Amino acid sequence: MAAPLPIASADADPSFAELLAARPHLSLHALDGLLVEEVPLARIAAAVGTPSWVYSAGALRRRARALKAALAGAGLRASVHYAVKANGNLAVLRVLASEGLGADVVSEGELRLARAAGIPASAIVFSGVGKTERELRLALAEDIAQINIESAEEAAMLSALAASLGRVARVALRVNPDVDARTHAKITTGRSENKFGVGIDDAPALYARLAAMPGLRPVGIAMHIGSQITSGMAAYRAAYARMAELATVLIGRGLPVEHLDCGGGLGIPYRDEPAPAPEALAGAIAATLGPLGLPVMLEPGRWIAGPPGLLLSSVVLQKQGAGRRFLVLDAAMNDLVRPAMYEAWHGILPVSPADCAAALAPSDVVGPVCETGDTFARGRALPSLQPGALVALLDAGAYGAVMSSTYNMRPLAAEVLVDGSRFAVVRDRQGYEAMLAGQRLPDWLAEGAVP
Ligand SMILES: *Cc1c(COP(=O)(O)O)cnc(C)c1O
Repeated sequence: MAAPLPIASADADPSFAELLAARPHLSLHALDGLLVEEVPLARIAAAVGTPSWVYSAGALRRRARALKAALAGAGLRASVHYAVKANGNLAVLRVLASEGLGADVVSEGELRLARAAGIPASAIVFSGVGKTERELRLALAEDIAQINIESAEEAAMLSALAASLGRVARVALRVNPDVDARTHAKITTGRSENKFGVGIDDAPALYARLAAMPGLRPVGIAMHIGSQITSGMAAYRAAYARMAELATVLIGRGLPVEHLDCGGGLGIPYRDEPAPAPEALAGAIAATLGPLGLPVMLEPGRWIAGPPGLLLSSVVLQKQGAGRRFLVLDAAMNDLVRPAMYEAWHGILPVSPADCAAALAPSDVVGPVCETGDTFARGRALPSLQPGALVALLDAGAYGAVMSSTYNMRPLAAEVLVDGSRFAVVRDRQGYEAMLAGQRLPDWLAEGAVP
């Protein structure tokens, strides 16, 4: 017998009702079960199979608008450049492009993706600590809005390339403010020991050099201090205060500073942790950078794309282990790696109305991959579920599909966009033929192999 559930304490996981109430694009229908907007997840599973990623277009739009409204409400002239790495699905990008968002890209692939989604080059920013010459060449050819320079070495490389092509690159200098964003160590980026940006003490001299280098036109300063920042505004305020000081020094020396790139990182409540609203971030920016009167840029990824997505999965079987109940899903760490990689907590909801109302007992929710780390949750209060029952892993829209792999020769899952009462497959489930297509035997091993 499974142990009875502990009495609710301050530390208890949120209930199904609480998870739903905090996610307005989800609802539970007495007959149809869990819905995304107006579409029952059971319908999507029947049509597309599982595991599948499901994104709410309505939630994406609402969040894009809420962020822009918060920035405008704080009196800021701001442009939002969605960080494509959080979710690079073409349809998701298309929805965000229609909302007037630009893109922050970190590779040639993301630059191509953003352009394919209809995001104009004039709204694209290129970040990253190791842009290759080939990538910089494409950025110059496309004449994108801004390339964020992360080192003196990169500046020299870009200057030589731009000059040789007869182009002038608009560059921002990414500065490492040496503040602790107090987030997971794997996603903090603004400490001096991190690989990102140049030290703030070196920034004035380097910025002056950029202004004198052929093929470069410095247009601003960029910072990005980390991801999933939920610890309040202290780290942001500290970073942006340093940015304001630096901008004042540069302007005082007659150097051009046209705008300030505030990066991304705004966290979301995966469980029920307090997470700052966009109004708090807008307020922190206005308080620190507002007096400079310059336009600001934001590069949010997770805050926009995280909550609108979920991973829909089927129960393979429920296994009674020694003192533990295991729920084995057809989704695994190769699909959603965040629990294995960052010890992340994701809400898990049953999809059928009966399962949502059934008695709860602690379950370890795992995938079929041959790693103990392939665990989505431990001791989670869930009903007893039959093979084939559907569950939704919540808030999986950011750093979900983009981080998935084919480990254990598991195909990449399908992606589905819901928009009101409509839904469409926006990325096919990978087929086994496609998985094998790029592999070949050298001729000396080919003899006798299956053709
Ligand atoms: C990852 C990244 C972002 C987006 O971070 P989120 O936490 O998803 O908002 C923005 N800017 C840069 C430079 C990044 O590397």
